[in-house]
Amino acid sequence: MRDWQKYDTILLDMDGTILDLAYDNYFWQELVPRCLARERKAGLAEVRTELFAHFARKQGSLDWYCLDYWSAELSLDLRALKSASSHRVRYLPGAVEFLRNLQATGKPVALVTNAHAHTLEIKKGVAGLGRWIETFVSSHEFGAPKESAEFWAGARGRLGFDPATTLFIDDSLPVLDAAAASGIAGVLAVTRPDTRQPARVIDRHASVTGLSELA
Ligand SMILES: [Mg+2]
Repeated sequence: MRDWQKYDTILLDMDGTILDLAYDNYFWQELVPRCLARERKAGLAEVRTELFAHFARKQGSLDWYCLDYWSAELSLDLRALKSASSHRVRYLPGAVEFLRNLQATGKPVALVTNAHAHTLEIKKGVAGLGRWIETFVSSHEFGAPKESAEFWAGARGRLGFDPATTLFIDDSLPVLDAAAASGIAGVLAVTRPDTRQPARVIDRHASVTGLSELA
């Protein structure tokens, strides 16, 4: 996949592809349960069990990615919590080098994410993503997550890319599957989205450990 240069348009996921998923995993698996347990004056283990079951029921839906949905469901100000913890947002190894090289090619580049607009704005600001990328697309604009055909039809309409000459890089298998099904020619998986976790084995699509392999 070092031949990424042969593609005319590059579409990049944000969390777990450009930015370390360690932040998101910390936020949802540690910080949110802790705040919830404090609010409800309940045990952490009990809160985590209930919360993770709720996450599992919503996984892959737009609600799962929606800060406002979870704020309402949990009666927590998650926007404030995101802002307060945003200093933990980090680039993945090699991501900046790759983005710099990519920018130098002058190719159209778009970040396509399932992140909620508020989360996207925070991360854009903290990481300075606007230095490297001009176009940002959130699936919430289309009311359909990246796991769906509707999203890819919407993104193609909005960005006007030719799927036959487009490369898309993401760490989520269902998302990569949907992109490939929509006709995107180059689909590349990131196997190590969280630097605190080991790499996963992905055999359904071409894969790299991370963008460092492409830089
Ligand atoms: Mg991701």
